[in-house]
Amino acid sequence: MILLPKLRQCRRCPRIVAYIEQLPAKKGYDRSDYHNAPVAGFGDSAARVWLLGLAPGAHGANRSGRPFTGDGAGDFMYPLLYQAGFSNQPQASHSDDGLCLYDLYISNAVKCVPPGNKPTAEEFANCLAFMEQEWRCLKQVRVIIALGRDAFMSALRMLRRNGLVNRLADYPFGHDVCYPLPNGQWLLGSYHTSRYNVQTGRIDAESFMQVLQHAQRLRENG
Ligand code: SF4
Repeated sequence: MILLPKLRQCRRCPRIVAYIEQLPAKKGYDRSDYHNAPVAGFGDSAARVWLLGLAPGAHGANRSGRPFTGDGAGDFMYPLLYQAGFSNQPQASHSDDGLCLYDLYISNAVKCVPPGNKPTAEEFANCLAFMEQEWRCLKQVRVIIALGRDAFMSALRMLRRNGLVNRLADYPFGHDVCYPLPNGQWLLGSYHTSRYNVQTGRIDAESFMQVLQHAQRLRENG
């Protein structure tokens, strides 16, 4: 776990804060069951692989308080992370379910749930400093897996701000695309593991496993 001291109290994005304040609980739950606040990353702070999503799901991470926990994207992803050796168990049901990540850290580019799961450009920019703090703390990271184009672009903007990339257009997004960075890290793209992408066949277990195995090869050999 990486501590971001100012994260929990952050209310920098008025549109997002207003959205969370009125977000109804899903059937069978009460709003008091919900985290309803910025969601910190979790996992191994000495990880060599960092998996970066877009933002908490309204009734997944925003409810459970842990990235990809309690929604369709996580239900798809966590068993495959386990299969690839990145965790101690395939299930991720709630924030104290005993899940441990091995050599992996998971967080989101935007730490709060945005309306329609679409942060604005300003909200991405507001939250960039938190992602950057994580990146600086993750000193062993060799591979950044960005899930989906938006997280990928957000990672690129952070890297550009730190002088590691110049033109964003030189780094087109795609599934399993991979770019070396001048600091020895790698940026790896993956289609997002959203329920929609799984249902439409844009991503499946085999193609996501391909990305995970690619990350494992890169972390070992570069
Ligand atoms: S999205 Fe990020 S910057 Fe915006 S309120 Fe949440 S934590 Fe703060």
